[in-house]
Amino acid sequence: MTARSRSNNRASDKLREVTFQTGIAPQASGSVLISFGRTQVLCAASIEEGVPRWMKEQGVTGGWLTAEYSMLPYSTAPRKQRDSSRGKIDGRSTEIQRLIGRSLRAGIDLEGLGSRTLWVDCDVLQADGGTRTASITGASVAIALACNKLVKEGKLAKSPVSRQIAAVSVGVVGSEVLLNLDYPEDRDAEVDLNLVMTGDLEFIELQASGEENVFGDSQLATMLDYGRRGISELVVRQEEILAASLC
Ligand code: UDP
Repeated sequence: MTARSRSNNRASDKLREVTFQTGIAPQASGSVLISFGRTQVLCAASIEEGVPRWMKEQGVTGGWLTAEYSMLPYSTAPRKQRDSSRGKIDGRSTEIQRLIGRSLRAGIDLEGLGSRTLWVDCDVLQADGGTRTASITGASVAIALACNKLVKEGKLAKSPVSRQIAAVSVGVVGSEVLLNLDYPEDRDAEVDLNLVMTGDLEFIELQASGEENVFGDSQLATMLDYGRRGISELVVRQEEILAASLC
């Protein structure tokens, strides 16, 4: 079988072009505009003093991290109606924001954050597949920037961020395993896998579904292999951006 041709002649195990632009939302404590090819997500981390009421009621100490995700109306064609005008929250957005929050909590010592809430806002500027994975990868950097700011301001002795978290999609399209799918690939995918990992390549979350077809051990192994390679590259990029921000 001939391999599917990918845009820009991308090899099956290659990421799209990845860029990080920091400081994009100056009112936030940390912000990043991340691009995975044409997918672009604004990731902003804002710090609020205090924690949710349930933490106080349950006697949970330390801080909290919570995430919100939405696609801006003009991120898709045709235009996507805002939840506020529809009058209800999209189930997909709810599922994605929970995934983002869970994933990012694995990279931070909440006790070390003190009695603060880290709000993570991920707003999709342009959607072309992989918006949840771009959100996690960009927001991880935004959080580190926000926590570095707390240290710089003398509010914390050390950053509670213990590691970078990155995420990438992998799929099976026409029996071929492809890394970091764009929308046309995602639409045609028989199997869809979203992988969230630490820089040490430990799993945080693995969401694999045989949407159109079942998949076997060897395809899963290839998906994980491609995914790990993608995550390794993303974490190197995250660390570079953070190191540059300290200069
Ligand atoms: N998409 C869209 N409108 C929607 C939901 C999704 O145009 O309401 C497109 C968009 O390009 C998105 C892709 O479908 O990136 C794949 O969506 P999925 O739910 O798999 O999430 P993602 O891959 O973005 O994490």
